[in-house]
Amino acid sequence: MKQEKMLSAISASKALSSGRGSCCDDDDCIADITENDPMIIGGLQNAVSAMLEGIGEDCEREGLLKTPERVARSLRFLTKGYREDPEELLKNAVFTEAYDEMVLVKDIDIFSMCEHHMLPFFGKAHVAYIPDGKIVGLSKLARVVEVFARRLQVQERLTQQIRDAIQNVLSPKGVGVVIEARHMCMVMRGVEKLNSVTTTSAMSGQFISSQSTRSEFLRLIKP
Ligand SMILES: [Zn+2]
Repeated sequence: MKQEKMLSAISASKALSSGRGSCCDDDDCIADITENDPMIIGGLQNAVSAMLEGIGEDCEREGLLKTPERVARSLRFLTKGYREDPEELLKNAVFTEAYDEMVLVKDIDIFSMCEHHMLPFFGKAHVAYIPDGKIVGLSKLARVVEVFARRLQVQERLTQQIRDAIQNVLSPKGVGVVIEARHMCMVMRGVEKLNSVTTTSAMSGQFISSQSTRSEFLRLIKP
């Protein structure tokens, strides 16, 4: 393997080390402006109270008094990706560069919620592309994953949306995305398969047309 390719395989934690933190200290994040809109929080609180009653709980008992508000705020955070534009986020960090080998950010943590049960699924995303004259700030690749993950999702669509956003903004020679995740709706209920991991992939360009590119990507993301 070529030296420069090794250098491109940057771990997600390194890519994220600049500027990752709570929503509010991220300069890309516009979500906090509407995050705590009292009307929306109030509506969600009422819905959570109704859910608590629906499962037979007593909303007036001490431990639950603040639960509707907590859950409302937590839900707003977990779905903040609806209020962010992933392609805009990428566009703000595009640079002209002649580098034309694979760029890979692996082991990006993802936390999302399935749209069928609103239960969490979580795992790792690996994102690679081959530039065609334009590169993007590495931390933005991880941020794009996060924006799409912080919406109600199915893993299949999440994988494709990440690929498409990168393809649309950078027009690279190819994009490869693999996600490995555990779904709480399978673990905690239904089939109760504790250790099952779901893997999805979405590719474009050379990741489809070139067997060696595809193999290299798959080899690099192996644990
Ligand atoms: Zn589910």
